[in-house]
Amino acid sequence: MSNAYRSWGVDPQTPQKAIRWGWRDAPAEQMAGQQSVLPFGNGRSYGDSCLNTAGALLDTRGLDRFVALDAATGVLTAEAGVSFQHILQHVVPRGWFLPVTPGTQFLTLGGAIGNDVHGKNHHVAGAFGRHVRQFELLRSDGTRLICSPEKNSELFAATIGGLGLTGLILSAEIQLISIDSPFMDVETVPFSGLEAFRAISADSADFDYTVAWLDCVASGKNFARGLFYRARHSAALSSDELTREKQPVEGRLSIPFNFPSIALNGLSIKLFNELYYRSNSKKAARGGMSRDHYQPYFYPLDSIANWNRIYGSKGFYQCQFVVPADSGALEMILRSIVESGMGSFLAVLKEFGELASPGLLSFPRPGLCLALDFSNRGLKSRILIERIEQQVVAAGGAVYPAKDRLMSASAFRSFFPAHEAFSRWIDPAFSSDFWRRVSMETHFE
Ligand SMILES: Cc1cc2nc3c(=O)[nH]c(=O)nc-3n(C[C@H](O)[C@H](O)[C@H](O)COP(=O)(O)OP(=O)(O)OC[C@H]3O[C@@H](n4cnc5c(N)ncnc54)[C@H](O)[C@@H]3O)c2cc1C
Repeated sequence: MSNAYRSWGVDPQTPQKAIRWGWRDAPAEQMAGQQSVLPFGNGRSYGDSCLNTAGALLDTRGLDRFVALDAATGVLTAEAGVSFQHILQHVVPRGWFLPVTPGTQFLTLGGAIGNDVHGKNHHVAGAFGRHVRQFELLRSDGTRLICSPEKNSELFAATIGGLGLTGLILSAEIQLISIDSPFMDVETVPFSGLEAFRAISADSADFDYTVAWLDCVASGKNFARGLFYRARHSAALSSDELTREKQPVEGRLSIPFNFPSIALNGLSIKLFNELYYRSNSKKAARGGMSRDHYQPYFYPLDSIANWNRIYGSKGFYQCQFVVPADSGALEMILRSIVESGMGSFLAVLKEFGELASPGLLSFPRPGLCLALDFSNRGLKSRILIERIEQQVVAAGGAVYPAKDRLMSASAFRSFFPAHEAFSRWIDPAFSSDFWRRVSMETHFE
């Protein structure tokens, strides 16, 4: 049993048993004798979907080898435990980039498929799974299957966003996109209110990446103010720009210990939001366009090692949901967050596009998607998050399992109507803390 296996939200802190998986040809018998097993990428999920307290984790970080890069087409094959950071280090100097990336590069290829992650380019690229050409899956009975949209296509669809429950992905082949420069042209546009956000979003179709920071503590005339960031990959200013540029490394700054819980309270968040909004609005007024390296643009939090410690030893809850854009639900939910006084300073708003996700349990779907952190204040936080969950159910939206540890079984069924079709593909030896919770009252087992 080890305490080294945590999810990014710090809590739950249950010790986990782990089996290290270092070779693609390791026999499936290594999984035998456990009550259940679950693949573990790099624990960048916030809740309990990457934990398996009642069984063992299959730690895939030893599966960290590249297999091939076709320099002409940008097709990359790598083992499942290779991190996005390492992929970028190797492919950017060759003029390629990840087709979709979340807000951290410290996740693995297997983890990206397990949650069918999305990025700031969802409106033009859809979710990560759309760019997966195929993967090799090991089932607990020793079967090894190549899955693609054409081959074992149902298992392919169940595994993308399948929360690690259909087997162990050993390696995957993905399609990269071509770039000329490691830099991004970024424009910052301040906005006031959700209608203004949507207008800018509609006006940004020719930007590859769009996302907004939302002030979720401001009320009155400042309600739903924010900063909209839209960007595209830059053109090269010199012929050797791709290879010359050194990439910043993780953890230049580090949070050395858990902050006391009083450090982040309603007042400090309000103050932070006010300063952040004002200074960035001023910058935008002076001419909103800047040329930024892709690292700080895509991964601003990665430069602060252990940033999750600012929430103290009790950790925090992350809540991310998507609701239909015209339902009015986002405004209602946002008002209840503002009223609760528990809003976070990390609130990220994105309008998802229409491109369908390939996974049976994929989270991304058309609508307005908001992600927030809530410092763990026990029952008070749980009541707020449960209220948000009910509002999302009523609106016909969904909560993201990668960021959740409170979702009820009935809410899960409402968010993921394909759960019955999915459950047929679960490997009988696989389970997770998340899965045991949401399948508790099931009629589909
Ligand atoms: C700062 C930060 C920003 C983030 N931003 C975003 C964002 O913008 N968009 C987004 O979508 N997510 C975002 N996330 C969440 C993160 O991208 C996902 O939770 C991702 O899946 C984590 O990958 P991991 O490799 O750490 O896997 P884990 O968290 O360890 O596991 C994730 C899931 O994948 C399964 N899995 C892992 N490896 C395999 C394998 N080899 N075979 C089969 N299943 C496997 C696991 O069982 C688990 O269900 C963010 C997280 C952080 C910390």
